[in-house]
Amino acid sequence: MPELAEVEYYRKQWDEGLGAKIVAVELHARKRVFRGSNTRALREQLIGSRFTESTARGKQMLFRFSGANWLGLHLGMSGTLRTERADFTSGKHDHLVLRQTKTALIFRDPRLFGRVRFHRGEAAPAWWSTAPEIASDDFSGRYVADFLKRHSRAPIKAVLLLQNGFPGVGNWMADEILWRARIAPETRAAALSLPQLSALRRATRFVSREGMRIIGNDFSDPPPSWLIHQRWKTGGVCPRHKRPLARATIGGRTTTWCEKCQPK
Ligand SMILES: [Zn+2]
Repeated sequence: MPELAEVEYYRKQWDEGLGAKIVAVELHARKRVFRGSNTRALREQLIGSRFTESTARGKQMLFRFSGANWLGLHLGMSGTLRTERADFTSGKHDHLVLRQTKTALIFRDPRLFGRVRFHRGEAAPAWWSTAPEIASDDFSGRYVADFLKRHSRAPIKAVLLLQNGFPGVGNWMADEILWRARIAPETRAAALSLPQLSALRRATRFVSREGMRIIGNDFSDPPPSWLIHQRWKTGGVCPRHKRPLARATIGGRTTTWCEKCQPK
């Protein structure tokens, strides 16, 4: 499932079309990705409008068009964004194609867990998440402590996966963060000491910033010292001292950690 860094990579794929007008819209209106959206209005409003701006917040992306038009995109499990030449012929999984005179902007999603939402209005739609971005100043020590307090009985691994608190953090990032902060994934949120809280916040910022920079740019790999490379390997080891990693399901998700670095 795409996480923050991958979402950032895909968001940028449409940059090529910035400033240009949409001249045609092709979409598969009956596909699940358009659930709850008025596809007729989407088509009528977007044709003739200009693509002006895009932002990603956590796993959500918002694309702005002139004439107070907005498209929200969520990649789900298998969604991708790309551009092609204007004369490209769309395939069966290309559920939304915005054609410009030089470029075609494409949303593809074979498994249909993604979502396309159309919105009209001067302001961004209400569903646009209000959680602070991890890179922003609002993602402060106070903010993290308050959020953990609201979920004090949950294991910290599960809390890191809550999108209304840690937007964009997914399963591999959560494991990477906890390994760097040296916190056992099953630790209750309320049981974290002050130094652990600040280590958690630092690691969250580091993994999202570096993840965005490395993966978000060209989908290249983080350095070999990252836990991510060992997570799914049979016989994966802690990058620090090569000890075999522990595995369990925590908060409903497969979790990998090092019992030496992250003692209970
Ligand atoms: Zn270790």
